[in-house]
Amino acid sequence: MKAVVLRGFKTPLRLEEVEDIEALGKGEVLLKMEMTGVCYRDILTVDGYFPKTRLPIILGHEVCGRVVDVGEEVSEFKKGDRVASLTYIPCGQCPECRRGEENICRRRLWFGEDIHGSYAEYLKTNFRSLVKAPEDVSSEAVAISACVTAMLIHALESRGGLKEDEKVLITGATGGVGVHAIQVAKSYGAEVVAVTGRVEFVDNLYKIGADHVIVSRDGAYSEEVKKITGGMGVDMVLECVGLTIIESLRSVRWGGRIIQVGNIKPEPIPLALGHFILKEVSLHGSLSCTRKELAEALELHRTGKVNPVTKVFPLEEVEEAHRMIRERKHFGRIMLKP
Ligand SMILES: [Zn+2]
Ligand SMILES: [Zn+2]
Repeated sequence: MKAVVLRGFKTPLRLEEVEDIEALGKGEVLLKMEMTGVCYRDILTVDGYFPKTRLPIILGHEVCGRVVDVGEEVSEFKKGDRVASLTYIPCGQCPECRRGEENICRRRLWFGEDIHGSYAEYLKTNFRSLVKAPEDVSSEAVAISACVTAMLIHALESRGGLKEDEKVLITGATGGVGVHAIQVAKSYGAEVVAVTGRVEFVDNLYKIGADHVIVSRDGAYSEEVKKITGGMGVDMVLECVGLTIIESLRSVRWGGRIIQVGNIKPEPIPLALGHFILKEVSLHGSLSCTRKELAEALELHRTGKVNPVTKVFPLEEVEEAHRMIRERKHFGRIMLKP
């Protein structure tokens, strides 16, 4: 089959012929890939920020596929089923998995890092990663349903407890996460303040549902947030960037919360902890999603409450797709079609 293989950190990517996937083991499922998403995490993987990545590896963890074969002891799925997948295979047995918090399973296997991923014609997974996807949801929507939409359900609702009429600030609003975060937050009835450094996308942000857009090239947006919120600050910040957390801390109200989902430059940041104490601000890390949230995400797509905003490249143009993300020229999610 054809696949994009990462052979060494910081080396160029290209589509190449690799060995076909062999016989399936217990619980395993073979998918023919319909569409995969390109995540900023893939860029970080290429750059070596996840040094435990098992090279050489087929990149990618965002999956829309169709079942073409199943191993023994797979009863939930059969040949022909259309599926979405978690970005990892949970172990299914540890305390976290048993509590339904499989996103923090310490024995999980992450596609594109621990096991071969989705930048390929076929993907081998385990039934524990899969959720059936309706036929009337587009392949782009299925492919973003785990790493983007369900991840946002996990961040905004499960971790952040976002409620109707609350004000939420979204940083990095024009990226693949930000664009869909605006839609998910609106589906909860929140008032959305979007922050971007890209003036050319302001109209697009209003079109997809932002109530307020702040253009900030220098990353200093808290004064603008205070003006919008009558001096109070927002109830919640969805921090998609990382570097901007200091400014987000200035933008959140007393007693508010910051949900950290993105970290585009994984380097330490000096944080004045006094702000957390004196304003009683809470900071929540949020990682990926569970199968339950993945099913909820597919429903948000099926009902049209969240619509994918994507640009699709053929798989052989993987380098061009990655370059667009590195240069932040795109609005929404970049996808690869095998
Ligand atoms: Zn992803
Ligand atoms: Zn587990």
